[in-house]
Amino acid sequence: MGRRRRQKVRRRPQKRIPDVYPCPDCGNTAIKIELYRDSGTATVKCGSCGLEMTVDEINPLTEPVDIYGSFIDRFYEGRKAEA
Ligand SMILES: [Zn+2]
Repeated sequence: MGRRRRQKVRRRPQKRIPDVYPCPDCGNTAIKIELYRDSGTATVKCGSCGLEMTVDEINPLTEPVDIYGSFIDRFYEGRKAEA
């Protein structure tokens, strides 16, 4: 009996949280956040417009999204200061 064995291809949807965020300056989702837990800093960099910032308020529980939050805050604070 030639029963064809159907191979079950189980596609595991890889749910990776994207590590790029929208840039407040150029509007592209090109912000990359790198955490350097050893040195207690993180860098935020836009791959599109080149906007860059170092955030040094990180602790072992800090997640990239927290960094992004601080970055956004600072970005707009900086804007206000400039205006
Ligand atoms: Zn940008």
